[in-house]
Amino acid sequence: MSARRSPIEVMADRVMKCVRCGAPMGGCDCWVKITLRCPKCKRTMQVTKDATNPPNTAIVEAPCDKCDRGGDKPETSYYNAKGQQIYGDTGEPITPARPSPSRVLP
Ligand SMILES: [Zn+2]
Ligand SMILES: [Zn+2]
Repeated sequence: MSARRSPIEVMADRVMKCVRCGAPMGGCDCWVKITLRCPKCKRTMQVTKDATNPPNTAIVEAPCDKCDRGGDKPETSYYNAKGQQIYGDTGEPITPARPSPSRVLP
């Protein structure tokens, strides 16, 4: 029978699934590495993208454990791969404030 699969193929099949969401490896962004940057000490580190991060996140800016004094709600900012700040919920770039707020969209 040619349908017989080698143990390696079977294992590869098992490994190539995301353990977080079950999608085929590469079909999701659960394991994308993003940069975590502290706005105070400028320390950066590579971390695995968190499920709570908005889409398109490439950089998360948040106080590190040394700079976060607790008490205050830590300020977290998100940036995309182009370095544009993005909204924490939609992942859309936050466009700079328009110089003339009187412009009304149709
Ligand atoms: Zn996944
Ligand atoms: Zn810090």
